[in-house]
Amino acid sequence: MIVATIGSHSALQILHGAKKEGFQTMVITDNRRKEFYKNFSFIDYILAYTNLDEAVSLINEIKDNGILIPHGSLVEYLGKERVDRIETKIFGNRRIFEWEADQKKKMELLRKSNIKIPEVFERPEDVDRLVIVKLNGAKGGKGYFLARNKSEVKEGIRKLIETKIIRDENEVIIQEYVVGVPMYFQFFYSNIINRTEIFGIDIRYETNMDGLKRLPFEYSKELNINPTFVVVGNIPAVARESLLPVALEYADNFVRTTKELVSPGMIGPFCLESIVTDNSDIVVFEFSGRIVAGTNLYVNGSPYSWLYWDEPMSMGRRIAREIKIANEKDRLSLVVS
Ligand code: AMP
Repeated sequence: MIVATIGSHSALQILHGAKKEGFQTMVITDNRRKEFYKNFSFIDYILAYTNLDEAVSLINEIKDNGILIPHGSLVEYLGKERVDRIETKIFGNRRIFEWEADQKKKMELLRKSNIKIPEVFERPEDVDRLVIVKLNGAKGGKGYFLARNKSEVKEGIRKLIETKIIRDENEVIIQEYVVGVPMYFQFFYSNIINRTEIFGIDIRYETNMDGLKRLPFEYSKELNINPTFVVVGNIPAVARESLLPVALEYADNFVRTTKELVSPGMIGPFCLESIVTDNSDIVVFEFSGRIVAGTNLYVNGSPYSWLYWDEPMSMGRRIAREIKIANEKDRLSLVVS
């Protein structure tokens, strides 16, 4: 069996892990990155495309003997319509993509899971505090802005429309800006062994927000620079142990809700992107229903994955392990869609 993925995001980790679990590995990549992937001996096949329709055809070439591992770049690169044309089995529940791409549906899933979330404002007129205005989909923070009142929200949206980043205000979500520290809790849900594992925690390194923090306040005030949130890397973190039971309870609730609303529910990796406040509340402002790039920090296992497995277990390897266990139990159909 071949484990394949698109050449971007967390492809190296995914394929490294698949090789460790004894699978053949394949990267399907933009032709310009072909040489890059040749550097890694754990990749057995490198298939290059020059356009995105060709990428779909290449993925479909392994429909009888392959499994595609989705990551954050899959839907963003190929677009929903092309992803719908993928005939090869995809690890996890592909119905989750649609919920993830829609900020409103996304928040509904969290709300129904009894997870604390920021206040969401339906219209700019409703805004009564500091907010963050975000775009749909996994854009890595691009285009986001902070606004202190309704007129700043309206002005920011007007600019986004003017610069053709969005067509109308329905494409943004307006959220209360939660003050605290970010912690992105990564999980793996196994429907084969019926367990949610806390895998790791990361913090996104965001420019220029993290850069502004380095400047003395008078300087940033003087420069009058608006904070932006473009993700350029990830930093590892561990949480106070007392936060973990709440995080895990949230994760279990989330899995349960997805089973009800997005049958057969969450399968495999996901992440609850949170802000932890000074009264130790975990406020989740977003989720990712697939492997997140923050797991790339833990290619040799994380402080938490060690506790479950007692061996170096990356998220990529965990996915491959799940496929292996499911296959051995003749239950592969439960982990793919
Ligand atoms: P996202 O694309 O939703 O993951 O957001 C990108 C970044 O914006 C996050 O990593 C946070 O730094 C910040 N952010 C997003 N939503 C909120 C929020 N409601 N409160 C505070 N910070 C947020």
